[in-house]
Amino acid sequence: MGEINFGLCPHCGSAEIVCVPSSMNDGFNRSGIAVSALRVIPFSRVICLQCGLVREWITDRVHLDLLRKKFGPKR
Ligand SMILES: [Zn+2]
Repeated sequence: MGEINFGLCPHCGSAEIVCVPSSMNDGFNRSGIAVSALRVIPFSRVICLQCGLVREWITDRVHLDLLRKKFGPKR
């Protein structure tokens, strides 16, 4: 299972980036995408500590595979 590399901030180029996973009880609106009636893929928030840019990120490759199955090009 490969680590997903968040890289540098696309806005300011800083490497000071934190990833805040979304969870059921963090008190904020969760964002995510439903792939079935029972399954929602949560987005983690990736935040640049220099300029404050917030990105949303899917950090689990299993989830990416689910998205590929549902929305990806049919073969
Ligand atoms: Zn930045």
